[in-house]
Amino acid sequence: MTTQVLIPLEKARQLFFDLMEVMPSERVPLELIGGRVLAEDIYAENNVPPFHRSPLDGFAFRSEDTQGATKESPCSLRILEEVPAGCWPKHPVLPGTATKIMTGAPIPAGADAVIRFEDTLSAENKVGIKHPFLPGTNICWAGEDIKKGERGLRKGSVITPGAAGLLASLGCTNPRVFRRPSIAIISTGDELVEVHQPLVPGKIRNSNLYSLMVAVQEAGAIPVNLGTVADEPQTLGERLEKALAETDLVITTGGASVGDYDVVKETFEKIGAKVLFWKIDIRPGTAAVGAVRDGKVLLGLSGNPGAASIAFELLARPLIRYLAGYEQLYRLTVQGILVEAFQKKSPQRRILRGVASWKENIWQVKLAGKQNPGILRSLVACNALIDIPAGTGPLEAGSQVKIIIQGGWDG
Ligand code: AMP
Ligand code: MG
Repeated sequence: MTTQVLIPLEKARQLFFDLMEVMPSERVPLELIGGRVLAEDIYAENNVPPFHRSPLDGFAFRSEDTQGATKESPCSLRILEEVPAGCWPKHPVLPGTATKIMTGAPIPAGADAVIRFEDTLSAENKVGIKHPFLPGTNICWAGEDIKKGERGLRKGSVITPGAAGLLASLGCTNPRVFRRPSIAIISTGDELVEVHQPLVPGKIRNSNLYSLMVAVQEAGAIPVNLGTVADEPQTLGERLEKALAETDLVITTGGASVGDYDVVKETFEKIGAKVLFWKIDIRPGTAAVGAVRDGKVLLGLSGNPGAASIAFELLARPLIRYLAGYEQLYRLTVQGILVEAFQKKSPQRRILRGVASWKENIWQVKLAGKQNPGILRSLVACNALIDIPAGTGPLEAGSQVKIIIQGGWDG
């Protein structure tokens, strides 16, 4: 039996970052770009907004006309025309005149202030203003959001709703984004049957495949189901070859440990991949083989659903996000209070599935249920992971812990 060296999780990730390259880029229509990562800086070819405009329904006028205006002696301006949004003013605003203007409509030449309807005195063809205005009052200036020539979005920006709106306002129809990596998922195990097959004695349904398909999508990549193979190196080797040829990163589950039927590590070696580590210092999830061939990463994760899911989250997910061009590789990690006791010692770094909430101005976390590596239900319940350092004794209720926030949280 080969000696098992536990490698720190952070070191395992770094080994891969050092040899991975971000995906090439592609152009994607703006309609379909949500969540993608920009692969280019976007410079403004026009001002946003493109012209000086009114932020409200009112009248545009020359501020100097209102100097000396009071309630008792308002200034009276002749109305020239009405400019709705989408139209262009026909007349310049000359001394003693005003233009009726709607929200979003261009400010006519000569005008340098806008007053809202509700604040005016109205008379036929005239508008009365009861106090002086400073130049620039109620005017949205052309380019006040983004100036022509300025960088609107930086390479590496994630396309959020706001970013998509900004791209649209700049007329950017097909921005260049990083390609989404395709991630092969190969399930291994003599005991597995597919989800649609009946359960026969000794068999279980392949749940990891589906958990990982969702996890891969959530990480910003495209999952590719490369099927289930028995605990046997020949077929696994062939499937790995297919995966390496067709996808950008390969994940297997099952058979990553030291048992007689655990063939993943030896098969990685057999196909000429260089094994970078075998076993990482987290529990569950220790049984994980990391290898590389032709610059492509192969990750062999444990078959236990809890272990596979935690190792995916902490090891595979950051690698996938790196490939996909994300600058933010990790989840939000906070310090908080464990609200219930956890009796076991943690000689090894332990990852617990928890339910986190923000209450009374602190992060609080409770356990999401049974923590055994084979348990699925706590994976459903959890919205956070609790990261307990190696060498920690039993934890009392109220202990300070590190919480990795995964999803939404109880408010
Ligand atoms: P292994 O990593 O092969 O030692 O498997 C550890 C445990 O996970 C065993 O109980 C397996 O039956 C179970 N297991 C392996 N693969 C899967 C899978 N794809 N879905 C659900 N459970 C699995
Ligand atoms: Mg097995």
